[in-house]
Order: sequence, then C-alpha cells, then structure tokens
Amino acid sequence: MTDEEKRKQACKDQLEYLIAKKKIIKSNPHVCHYCKRNLSKNEITIDHLVPLSRGGASVESNLVICCPECNHEKNDMTEQEYIAFKNKSAIIPKRHYHYDELLNLQEIKIPMSYARSCVKKNKLQKVSSYYNRHGELDEPIMVKSHADKLLLDGYVRFVVAKNQMVSTVPVVYVYD
Ligand SMILES: [Zn+2]
Repeated sequence: MTDEEKRKQACKDQLEYLIAKKKIIKSNPHVCHYCKRNLSKNEITIDHLVPLSRGGASVESNLVICCPECNHEKNDMTEQEYIAFKNKSAIIPKRHYHYDELLNLQEIKIPMSYARSCVKKNKLQKVSSYYNRHGELDEPIMVKSHADKLLLDGYVRFVVAKNQMVSTVPVVYVYD
C-alpha cells in the first residue's frame, strides 16, 4: 500500500468507527459492558472487545459501551482476559489492616542485618528511647495501600512497637 492509500484507508476506518460508535450509543443502554454501572453521557467510552493492538477491528460487533475506569484498566486485554482478570481480583480479599492485626503479623520477620545496620540502629535507638520516656511512639505508623501491596512507612516504629509489646499503635492509612 502506498502512503496515500494508507492515509485513505485510515480515514475510512476512522469514519466507519465513528458511525459504529454513534449507532452503539444510540441503540444500547448506557451501561458499562464490564462493571454494569450506569453511565452518564459524558462518561461513555467505547471499548474494542478485541483490542486494535491484538488485531481487532473498529466494527460494531467488536465495540461495546464501557466506563472510563474499566476501559483504562482493560488496556490491551481481550474481553475474555479482562473478565478473567476482574473475577480474579474479586476473589483476592482487600485487606484492611488494623493496628492490633498489624502487630500480630507473624510473617513479618525483622532481619538482623536491619537491626545491626548503623542508620537503622540509630533510628531504632531514637524511637526506643522516645518510647521509654513518653510511653508512646514519636510518630504514627503510615500504611499505604497500593493495589494489593502494602507499603509501610515507619518500619522502625513497627519494630519498636513489637519489641516493647505495645498493644496499640496509632496507624495512619493512606489510600490511593
Ligand atoms: Zn466499568
């Protein structure tokens, strides 16, 4: 195909896509194909069941109404792959950590190298002596939940709390 032919084909594809899109929006309920959420007019996006990058075409049979969140998350997955992905993430329970549970997490091992390293050792001593003086931690433990990972800021405080067998620790939760 020459460049001119390619350009013409692209224009034709785009036009066909726009016609198909208009038709789909007009003749289907404005509900996300994946999460079944009702969508307002400006929330409507169009998803390719088989993505263009995977060989899908911009034809009516390959297009569905989709919310922006699902569309973004689906990315270049096919319909089947995305449904499987969604089901899988539904089974993984979202954990909400509370301070007592956090302190009882037995699987968190404190490596000796951590406690021995100079910077961490100084920090540990600082937080420990603060705790001994005031009976509380100098700062709350920050827990950041990101996807299914848990990011802990304040590991030193966590270590001190464990060592001192503190029953309650202020924890700040940050969700993104
Ligand atoms: Zn959705």
